[in-house]
Amino acid sequence: MSGSDQDQSSGLQSRCDVVIVGAGFSGMYLLHRMRGLGLSARVFEAGAGVGGTWYWNRYPGARVDVESQEYSYSFSEELQDEWLWTERYAAQPELLDYLNHVADRFDLRRDIQFDTRVTAATFDEARALWTVATDGGETVQARYCIMATGCLSVPNEPAFPGQDLFKGPTYHTGRWPHEGVDFTGQKVGVIGTGSSAIQSMPQIARQADHLYAFQRTPNYSVPAHNGPIDPAVVADWKANRAEYRQQARMSGAGIVAIVPTEDLALSVSEEERQAVFEDRWARGGFSVGAAFADISIDLSANATAAAFAAGKIRDIVKDPEVAEKLIPKDYPFGTKRLCVDTGYYEMFNRDNVTLVDVSQSPIEALTATGLKTAEAEYQFDSLVFAIGFDAMTGALGRIDIRGRHGQALKEKWADGPRTYLGLMTAGFPNLFMVTGPGSPSVLSNMVVSIEQHVDWITDCIDHLNGRQLGAIEASGEAEDAWVAHVNEVADTTLYPLARSWYLGANIPGKPRVFMPYVGGVGPYREKCDEVAARGYEGFVLSAV
Ligand code: FAD
Ligand code: NAP
Repeated sequence: MSGSDQDQSSGLQSRCDVVIVGAGFSGMYLLHRMRGLGLSARVFEAGAGVGGTWYWNRYPGARVDVESQEYSYSFSEELQDEWLWTERYAAQPELLDYLNHVADRFDLRRDIQFDTRVTAATFDEARALWTVATDGGETVQARYCIMATGCLSVPNEPAFPGQDLFKGPTYHTGRWPHEGVDFTGQKVGVIGTGSSAIQSMPQIARQADHLYAFQRTPNYSVPAHNGPIDPAVVADWKANRAEYRQQARMSGAGIVAIVPTEDLALSVSEEERQAVFEDRWARGGFSVGAAFADISIDLSANATAAAFAAGKIRDIVKDPEVAEKLIPKDYPFGTKRLCVDTGYYEMFNRDNVTLVDVSQSPIEALTATGLKTAEAEYQFDSLVFAIGFDAMTGALGRIDIRGRHGQALKEKWADGPRTYLGLMTAGFPNLFMVTGPGSPSVLSNMVVSIEQHVDWITDCIDHLNGRQLGAIEASGEAEDAWVAHVNEVADTTLYPLARSWYLGANIPGKPRVFMPYVGGVGPYREKCDEVAARGYEGFVLSAV
């Protein structure tokens, strides 16, 4: 199959080799690699520009929480040489500039159709072709359909009683207005205390007259210590980049700067342990969560990290009652995604910030002028929903994907997603997912995981084309074994003990299945490479 085979006609029906859905980090790199194979590829993107996450999430304070130089593509030496990050943790505008630069540099836009949502993808068994339909009434036929639709791209829609009663403006962090929002002189309510709220609230509090933070579950947050990027880091990274990139690829979380260790929390003295935690708190970011190798697997070890974090919260927050409310009590440290903040706990020392604990008396309804809980009524001018996403399966579930025998992916996944390696799902030949459920994805530096998936998919398609094969499908047995393995590994950790979005627990009615693969990006990569080296073991390859 090559670009020259295409029957590309203009109008509402066309044909290409590969359809890619989404133009974030994943879709953009995929397009580049597919072109490199000589294939014709078309990308459909619901947004008006490239960037995915960094196109949509424009709330104040939005920034990456993996150090900038690591949260970037590694596939092009030239790109890495020419792009200089300004901050240790780049803010959303800089990340979006970067992704626009990548789009320009690799001339990606000519094959991306913006403002176009893919609504359906149907597999034609006789011809082994996918027919992809868009909300613009267009259909495209392609041999391969690759979902680069993102793990965190579908906002959790607010559905509070009285939702339409509130008369002021409302905003969702995941769909922030492009022109920005001025909260000067306003009372602002923010519902949620996950990463998006933890990043945005300190900024909003500085501008607004008053901020009400409605917290259902407190999160653990560690300081970013953000600032201009250290020239020594830039120089070191430049000198050792190839080595660091390789370390990241073979590591647990895909991040070198967190300095992973094999040391166990309970194998050192109390004094040493505190010194390690203090050192890592001073370093900042996820390095705190990586202080000891057993924090995510051993409750006693975990309790030492939890106690350390609680102590920090008590030190920073002056009002002891507020501090107690901010300390998580009912899940282990790091089992809901760790947040990385700039001045979050300090914000609660401001006179214009009120923490409202809605764990015991939940939000009952929105009102014309605010919201009410069983205990009280709160009034504000604007309301921010920082309530997260229908993670990992949300975007796929919103496309009517039909595989063999017209089976709907949604039906197949009714009890939770089932994949082989998070790359494919049985019964849906030639349909790939980038960072799909069952892969490390959201438990890692996602750019590392995205590049790994895109490279694997590219090699796979190249393998098929080189052998005149036109179809690949995960076998049911391989999928069953992988799903069992993903669950087994998750059960050896503390992650399932939290009601987190990793488990779908933030979306009412969503099946509770631990979706990402917790085995680490290095071991996972080895497994994927091994499968490929054995002639795509666990997949069925066929001619068309
Ligand atoms: P996305 O960037 O989500 O892009 C998917 C694209 O697909 C979107 O533009 C969407 O519009 C499009 N799409 C979806 N469905 C359709 C459809 N049916 N039709 C057409 N288009 C469609 N990860 C980290 O590793 N480190 C971080 O610090 C970090 N920070 C984050 C901060 C925020 C606020 C959020 C929300 C996520 C963060 N992530 C982080 C995760 C982040 O999503 C990934 O790092 C990465 O950007 C994902 O890239 P992607 O291309 O796979 O998906
Ligand atoms: P989130 O972590 O899911 O947080 C959503 C918050 O809203 C939670 O506090 C949740 O409470 C609350 N909430 C949801 N529904 C509610 C309701 N009905 N009533 C009251 N509270 C409700 O979402 P997020 O903050 O957008 O972050 C999602 C993920 O995106 C992160 O975990 C991270 O992976 C990524 N992200 C990263 C960064 C970064 O720092 N780079 C920034 C933003 C996002 P419960 O906990 O009780 O459900």
